Amino acid sequence: ATPTSIMVGTGRAAELGVLFRKGQALQTLRDTKVVALDKTGTLTKGQPELTDLQLTPGFAEDDALALIAAVEQHSEHPIAEAIVAAAKERKLTLASPEDFQSHSGLGVSALVDGQTIEVGADRYLGQLGYSLAAFGDTAQQLAKEGKSPLYAAIDGKLAAIIAVADPIKEGTPDAIKALHDLGLKVAMITGDNRHTAEAIARQLGIDEVEAEVMPDGKVAALQRLRKLHGSVAFVGDGINDAPALAEADVGLAIGTGTDIAIEAAEVVLMGGDLRAVPNALAISQATLSNIR
Ligand code: ADP
Ligand code: MG
Repeated sequence: ATPTSIMVGTGRAAELGVLFRKGQALQTLRDTKVVALDKTGTLTKGQPELTDLQLTPGFAEDDALALIAAVEQHSEHPIAEAIVAAAKERKLTLASPEDFQSHSGLGVSALVDGQTIEVGADRYLGQLGYSLAAFGDTAQQLAKEGKSPLYAAIDGKLAAIIAVADPIKEGTPDAIKALHDLGLKVAMITGDNRHTAEAIARQLGIDEVEAEVMPDGKVAALQRLRKLHGSVAFVGDGINDAPALAEADVGLAIGTGTDIAIEAAEVVLMGGDLRAVPNALAISQATLSNIR
């Protein structure tokens, strides 16, 4: 491609809210075979809401939620915000936790009023030695509905299953359809529960799912997709997405996402709307075919 055609292409892209930080990316993007997208904050709004709370015998809803939310006050995860918001809606008083610990990709723990509170994914409570069998059927049902199940233990006893649901962004279904129309495969990469991720993928017509991926596993997930399909573009928004944005053949960051993600990407989508992704791909294809 000539410098002029790249300027024209990146100019047209900018009008559609797609910022190419390097002209080179316009050419690389054209060879994309699979577009992999982060789930939370990329395919979804990243603003989950608490939808379900179920307790084991001996625990009361408000008391348990107050303890769990007390710990989550110190986490920046969107799930934590959902839990704290639900507690505040019920006007619960939240104590200050001690010994707060965040376990990346797993969950959080702290001491509240002298009790150990542990909250997180099934694999986190599993690692701590809790049996989650009591909630087996409930968890399956929640995941089928596209909700993310979490668990909480209070003072060494399994106390609750909590579900959060994160609405899909308005432009996401159209964006996926447009990517398919361009002849591309679409994949999802997420730290979330496998059954939840698969339910959402089915709903959106996404071809492949890499679920329960730990934050440092996103790069390996991309490499698997590249081996299967060829050149891979990755779309993400979070701090955790920065290594994958750098590893991808082309990294596209959501402009409303974190600065760290934006810095790691070659392409920035100015709004949060994913329809910008097929637009960028279409421009890259059109720009370069004009020259031939
Ligand atoms: P993602 O945001 O894609 O789900 P993360 O790696 O941030 O990926 O988290 C993976 C999983 O760990 C979450 O889906 C959730 O089950 C659990 N988790 C992480 N942080 C928290 C938290 N603050 N409270 C409860 N669970 C958490
Ligand atoms: Mg995200």
